[in-house]
Amino acid sequence: MAEIINGKELAKKIKKELKEEVIKLKENGINPKLAVIMVGNDSGSQVYVRNKSKACEKVGIDFKEYLFEENISEDFLLETIHKLNNDSSVHGILLQSPVPKHININKAFQTILPEKDVDGFNPVNVGKLTIGEDTFISCTPYGIIKMLEEYNIETEGKNAVILGRSNIVGKPMIQCMLNKNSTVTVCHSKTKNIEEITKKADIIISAIGRPKFVKENMVKDGAVVIDVGINRLEDGTICGDVDYEAVSRKASYITPVPGGVGPMTIAMLLVNVVKSAKILNN
Ligand code: NAP
Repeated sequence: MAEIINGKELAKKIKKELKEEVIKLKENGINPKLAVIMVGNDSGSQVYVRNKSKACEKVGIDFKEYLFEENISEDFLLETIHKLNNDSSVHGILLQSPVPKHININKAFQTILPEKDVDGFNPVNVGKLTIGEDTFISCTPYGIIKMLEEYNIETEGKNAVILGRSNIVGKPMIQCMLNKNSTVTVCHSKTKNIEEITKKADIIISAIGRPKFVKENMVKDGAVVIDVGINRLEDGTICGDVDYEAVSRKASYITPVPGGVGPMTIAMLLVNVVKSAKILNN
């Protein structure tokens, strides 16, 4: 039976340490602050933003929401980002995705000052990750790396298979695992015979958004299985990309959904905000 990687507990520990750090920063006159922009009223985004707000409050990070109607212009959004770039009381800027189709999200990410880009989506930070420089790593892959480290899971020389190639999870995850000296294979919707590839994986990281896609017969004995997926089933319950019960019997380590990658993503966002507050204040 697999050992459960408890993201919720690890996130709690990280937040406890951050709280202490924030107290010290405040004693030195630095008040870490995150600005979150949300355009439209996507129900999933509302939940994510609320969770981020609560997490900031817990560790003492100031949180300011900018909620805009779906029909705002791209120019207005970029103007808002510029204002936040120039506001020295703001250390982190996050644009919640998705945004309405008339807004070019890449252009918006590029407008966020790299030093305040706590989500790690600005191409400058993406590039720095690629060449192995210190940067803001996108929060979900960063959280996964922290979990692997915390549980002393060997990555060097291991076959890591990543399912999904999105800009926010799959692609930065490829780079993170390369930086950890894994041999990385990435699969996507056009990949043929995925199960033949996953069966050879020492580490599987699934970020495709397909409920229970990763079945027991796709996983080799003793593999480490990281489930990024958050899928809402018809009965309202949430499940991951992995058939958790069955795969648990074969894997050596597994992350649950909820309580695995999700809480770690938020914890790493807070880590990045504190880091930006320190960098911006030397
Ligand atoms: P996304 O932008 O929709 O990307 C999905 C990726 O999966 C794409 O690369 C797609 O391939 C691939 N894919 C889709 N169906 C596939 C299939 N049947 N076989 C193989 N590959 C397939 O999604 P995302 O934003 O990366 O998110 C992925 C999942 O993670 C979602 O459930 C999301 O809610 C969750 N998520 C969780 C967290 C967290 O903190 N836990 C954070 C972010 C996202 P193509 O490129 O070929 O289309």
